[in-house]
Amino acid sequence: MEYNVNDKGFYGKFGGAYIPEMLYPNVAELRDTYLEIIQETAFQEQFYYLLKHYVGRPTPLYLAERLSEKYKAQIYLKREDLCHTGAHKINNTIGQILVARKLGKKSIIAETGAGQHGVATATVCALMGMDCIIYMGSHDMERQKPNVERMKILGATVIPATSGSKTLKDATNEAMRHWINHPQETHYIIGSVVGPHPYPAMVALFQSVISDEIKMQLQQQIGRENPDYIIACVGGGSNAAGAFYHFMDNKDVKLVAVEAAGKGVNSGQSAATTALGTMGILHGSRTLLMQTEDGQVTEPYSISAGLDYPGIGPLHAHLFDTKRATFYAVTDENAMKAGIALSRLEGIIPAIETAHALAALDEMQLQPHESRYSPQQARRYYSSNRDCPRPGCTR
Ligand SMILES: *Cc1c(COP(=O)(O)O)cnc(C)c1O
Repeated sequence: MEYNVNDKGFYGKFGGAYIPEMLYPNVAELRDTYLEIIQETAFQEQFYYLLKHYVGRPTPLYLAERLSEKYKAQIYLKREDLCHTGAHKINNTIGQILVARKLGKKSIIAETGAGQHGVATATVCALMGMDCIIYMGSHDMERQKPNVERMKILGATVIPATSGSKTLKDATNEAMRHWINHPQETHYIIGSVVGPHPYPAMVALFQSVISDEIKMQLQQQIGRENPDYIIACVGGGSNAAGAFYHFMDNKDVKLVAVEAAGKGVNSGQSAATTALGTMGILHGSRTLLMQTEDGQVTEPYSISAGLDYPGIGPLHAHLFDTKRATFYAVTDENAMKAGIALSRLEGIIPAIETAHALAALDEMQLQPHESRYSPQQARRYYSSNRDCPRPGCTR
């Protein structure tokens, strides 16, 4: 459990809740109640019901044979892109809106950069019939028009943040301001493993369904539940946290986190937080972030909107600090190449975020897999073990 959050809300040196006094009651209420709420049978039933029938879980764990051949390893893709709304983000928004309802909240706010989290939030608000306000930088609204349209179709109000660089961090500031002004009736759905405690821990817990399923599916497909490596991209770090979660305490499973190097780590246009960042406070937690010598947050850059974030969540800062995870930074160019390669090898067009994780395969020195199972055997094993329903299924 050395990688779990402690009772003060820290992962090693990182985490905590650095928030304005006005928000303290809200954050404290959430901190004191979320675990209890999540553990209630009624919550669990509804959460897993929606993950199965609404989101479409479990998502496949797919043995990418042609990609495997290229790297002389056995590579599986966890197909979070097949979730409703197209990414893992909805695992978290479903969990949080159920918590918000239990707390008696009437309306939801969220911030969004590319609009992906905004869409996942607007989706669950429509599902639950709750008011939804999404803050988005006005510059981002122009760059990401289709997602703005989706949010509006889903019934959300999208409010442009027009201060500063008119991007994600400005949207976050506006959302915080809204929350301070309407603390009682509002729940703020944060979209990654960032923000003040308990958000990073809560979001990681909701996303942990990913590694829960990986374990079960690997066991089914190849008769062992632990992979040699887990590779995931890190923007704030929620998909990585979910994929790492049930493997963190098992050091035989190597964790690989991939950040966006943009035009190059030292180009001045990157989002490679662990390579360039220092300790500071960002969005309510102590973590690694890219900042100037005077502590001004540096504007990040990546071709991928989801990785274009100046920090990483405190859990990942801790995994980096303790060397539990290995971090790579991948340039726009290499990510694009890896994305095209996957498309041509497997007929799967990945998100540009995901393409960063795939590009890391070129930098890792993969040993030929130690697994006793060949792809052919894996397929045979799989076809004789069809139809296992959902997390927790033990057959
Ligand atoms: C949003 C997004 C990310 C980045 O967010 P994390 O919290 O780091 O997971 C990565 N990949 C995809 C496909 C996304 O939509």
